Amino acid sequence: MNTVSTRIDADAGAAVAVLTIDNPPVNAMSMAVRAELLAAVQAAAADAAVQALVLIGAGGKFIPGADIREFGKTLAGPSGRDVIAAIEACPKPVVAALGGNALGGGLEIALGCHWRVATPDCKLGLPEVNIGLIPGAGGTQRLTRLVGPAKALEMITTGKPISAREALECGVVDEVIDGDLLAGALAFTRRMFDEVRPLRKVSERGDRISGADPALFADIRRKQAKKWQGLIAPQRIVDCIEAACQRPFDEAYAIELAAFNECKASPQRAALIYLFGAEREAAKIPGLSADLAPQPVRSAAVVGAGTMGGGIAMCFANAGIPVWLLDADDAALARGRALIEKNYAASVERGSLSAERRGRALSLITGTLDYAALGSCDIVVEAAFEDMAVKQEVFRKLDAVMKPGAILATNTSTLDIDKIAAATSRPESVIGAHFFSPANVMKLLEVVRGAITAPEVIASTMALAKTIGKTAVLSGNADGFIGNRILAVYGRECDFLLEEGATPWQVDRALQGFGFPMGLYLMRDMAGLDVGWRIRKYREQFRDKSLRYSPSAASGRRRAAAITSTTAATARPTLPSRH
Ligand code: NAD
Repeated sequence: MNTVSTRIDADAGAAVAVLTIDNPPVNAMSMAVRAELLAAVQAAAADAAVQALVLIGAGGKFIPGADIREFGKTLAGPSGRDVIAAIEACPKPVVAALGGNALGGGLEIALGCHWRVATPDCKLGLPEVNIGLIPGAGGTQRLTRLVGPAKALEMITTGKPISAREALECGVVDEVIDGDLLAGALAFTRRMFDEVRPLRKVSERGDRISGADPALFADIRRKQAKKWQGLIAPQRIVDCIEAACQRPFDEAYAIELAAFNECKASPQRAALIYLFGAEREAAKIPGLSADLAPQPVRSAAVVGAGTMGGGIAMCFANAGIPVWLLDADDAALARGRALIEKNYAASVERGSLSAERRGRALSLITGTLDYAALGSCDIVVEAAFEDMAVKQEVFRKLDAVMKPGAILATNTSTLDIDKIAAATSRPESVIGAHFFSPANVMKLLEVVRGAITAPEVIASTMALAKTIGKTAVLSGNADGFIGNRILAVYGRECDFLLEEGATPWQVDRALQGFGFPMGLYLMRDMAGLDVGWRIRKYREQFRDKSLRYSPSAASGRRRAAAITSTTAATARPTLPSRH
């Protein structure tokens, strides 16, 4: 099947070749699309009967990026750069008609066109940084020339798409089409043709880059140094945008290609593409019927206003869901509220949250000591102490007040979901919702299914995760679920390093050098050493005694004290033998 077809539209003025890209299921840019688009552009350019061209996606949906099935493979045929060069060099007006997602290679194709129009709901962006790449077909160069370096830096280093309206304001698109996209695009193209507008080749524009402030690049490098530590792609994006402002197009275009190839060859790219695929795979749940309608969550409750409970309440409030926050006494509630307010204040100070949104979110969080207040909520997430007796007691109380059909979730890190569920008369409504610390920031949510958790409850919790901006991964009710199971092995080895004389700071520095955003010991401090202490105490009864065990990990508190004394003196603990 052809992925690109050409039709001449000559009904109402200039004869326009409409090139339709149709590569199901999502219209991705594959090798075939590139080859056929190049041939179609060349044919239309050579056809004396054609006066202008419109590029559009089938069903109005433009190219959302490269074909993920081709990621990491050696590609044959014309490159994106070859196709875009032919489009830009076409002596007839070429207009991109954008709808759906015009992302990555799709937006780069559009940037090669002389004008761009888009539907109001179109999303436009260059998200390559998310998979360890940079736009390699002129995206860093043309976007910079079109919108200026500040906006290009923001769009390409974050990878976040913008709306059609924003694209119109900053100059990425020339018109937003409210009605039928093709009809609007044809009318726009004929207008450009009739008015004999000079072709707007983005690579030849210099108005937005002239006089760019060099401090812009030093600033972003300094501000993002910590976040980008060890990451190649965002740093190269800055290099390329800087080159776009300081060098002729051809030179800077060559720098972009070299940077793209460097990123492509990096194991970071391979790992991030694996992650991209893994996240999509994680959303599919074998055995769960696709037509299970998730139950909407309109109101929520959290039990326990500590480190995790406060963060979880913020997740609901940030998504516009009103949330009750229950704790055992006024002092605990006040502590929880103060922590939430401090976290929001930090976001406002950082500029990542407006004062108005903070006010709205805070107004959605209400403290209570009374279980009866939670009764009509669609979901409750328990985040009390990591202690089976405490959890069972909380669930008995929830069972007594929650409405039928409510989801009863626990944020337990390690405890058996089925034993918690057994404290209720409705174990099928009980599920694990294991957030990571800080809960309002970390993307991962482990959804833990108990032995008889109802499929509707699983589907609804997975859907809720999306609503509150989390990436959900379904886990079995197994020891450590997934994340902590990995962490246990990694933490064990780090503790052995302490025994062998390393300081926690040395271990953390090595881990950060390896690419972790934070070392293990700082992470444990942030999560709370008391949580780890409770977990280790509880797990002592199940511990595999044949494995070497670091006594320094027997108690977070004792270890913290031990570390201080070990680093003060240079005493080394006696090494237990490894098994
Ligand atoms: P925390 O000690 O900071 O907070 C617990 C809160 O629960 C306190 O405010 C306490 O007053 C309240 N509480 C205790 N018993 C209660 C009861 N019976 N009724 C009402 N409130 C009660 O603990 P945390 O770090 O927020 O951990 C909470 C849960 O989240 C634990 O199950 C823990 O394993 C889990 N968890 C913690 C982390 C982490 O990094 N801290 C990460 C994931 C999961």
